[in-house]
Amino acid sequence: MSASAENIYAAWRQRGRVLSLLQETDGTPPETLLQAIWQHQRLRRDALRTTDGRTVRVLHPGFATTGGGPDFRGAILQIGGEAAVSGDVEADLVPGGWHGHGHDQNPNFAGVILQVVWSAGKIPAGHPPVLAVRDSLDAPLAELAQVLEQETGLPAALRGKCSAPLGELAGPELTALLRAAAMVRFQNKAATICARARHAGWEQTLWEQLFRALGYKQNVWPMLHLAETKARWLAGADSVFAIQARLLGVGGLLPVELSRARKSGDSYLRRAWDGWWRDRDGLAGCQLPRAAWKFGGVRPANHPQRRLALASHWLAAGNLPGRIEAWCAAAIPETRLADSLGEIFQAPADEFWSSHWTMTSAPLARPQPLLGAGRVTDLAVNVVLPWLWVRAREGGNEKILREMERRFQAWPAAEDNSVLKQARQRLLGNAKGSKLAGAAEQQGLMQIVRDFCEHSNALCTDCRFPELVRSWRVAAGM
Ligand code: SF4
Repeated sequence: MSASAENIYAAWRQRGRVLSLLQETDGTPPETLLQAIWQHQRLRRDALRTTDGRTVRVLHPGFATTGGGPDFRGAILQIGGEAAVSGDVEADLVPGGWHGHGHDQNPNFAGVILQVVWSAGKIPAGHPPVLAVRDSLDAPLAELAQVLEQETGLPAALRGKCSAPLGELAGPELTALLRAAAMVRFQNKAATICARARHAGWEQTLWEQLFRALGYKQNVWPMLHLAETKARWLAGADSVFAIQARLLGVGGLLPVELSRARKSGDSYLRRAWDGWWRDRDGLAGCQLPRAAWKFGGVRPANHPQRRLALASHWLAAGNLPGRIEAWCAAAIPETRLADSLGEIFQAPADEFWSSHWTMTSAPLARPQPLLGAGRVTDLAVNVVLPWLWVRAREGGNEKILREMERRFQAWPAAEDNSVLKQARQRLLGNAKGSKLAGAAEQQGLMQIVRDFCEHSNALCTDCRFPELVRSWRVAAGM
């Protein structure tokens, strides 16, 4: 086929896209396309004005998010004659989305400095500045829909300044750098564990770290509180169910009263409530308010009730620290690292929790393990390995120390997450990002983000990391 001949498939695709776009949206783009237009700045950037007539200079459009907050974090904008400021950007099709979606009431949106909309409309008081982009596109909407549909990840122009020197490193050099950063992160965790263990003892510190890890990002503090008060609420609880009832009660996750409907029957909730009702006066001093927990954005499998159900199995088994020590002493091939630790942390089938996400949810179609395979890696790199490593260091056991470092460096990669994904795109570009083979490399990348990106801005202002990478290359003769 000659270059000028029509590519019939491309023509089909084009007609289909344009038609479906117009039919489905009546000429208005879907919100995802509006976000892509903003991220890739497919705008006449020198002609942008807010609906109240102020010029908008986009020094950086911010980084796309996947959580429940604004669509872009860390944008740098200059609006009117004001100095450039850093903040968040929210994309909605119309200005009314701000109130309609409840952003005005949501503290996660307090840092929004611009609302990007497709077309202007009535703007009520107390609204952030609004930029309507319908008349400022740099190409027809149908063309943008086609091009941006194929774009994934961060545009090259928005990559960090370190992506160039990092891109010049050969694979083994990049791995060595990431692993060096990972060891800093690992040792920092170990130092935190060691400091706490001096006051609370090794075993109590292990429980506190495990509970923290079960809290994920959102519920670290209530989980830690429960671990810190464990001696009180665990006393006398002699079965998995008894511990679950105590944990749910002390955690403030049981209703204050059961409704008449719930009082009947032998439901799990009813039995847990009965168990807690007998104990609650004696444990009132360590009970958490329900408000201590965050439920928004928590996946069902990570619901705090379910995490506490898992912890109750660990506690009821009575020998978790001993099993971890035995795992440390055993000879384990690299290919079995995650599975062998997973066998220690996985709970046996639970009469209720194997088939429910929460206390009140409908039964699941298929039983689900209380601990997902991906979580074992989080427990390993954040708790188990640093705990064992620092104990070995304090005890002068060089052999165990080296073995825990070896296991850390050999551990398979954790599940991907939005922080890692963005860091890969920003620092490494998509191609090298896909080569992060192990958990240590992932940890190293997150440490660089913490040490450098979090002290700079979206434009990488004053970040020394690119220069450090270049100097390192030169010094090492790479
Ligand atoms: S802030 Fe520094 S480390 Fe982060 S992307 Fe920019 S240059 Fe790289």
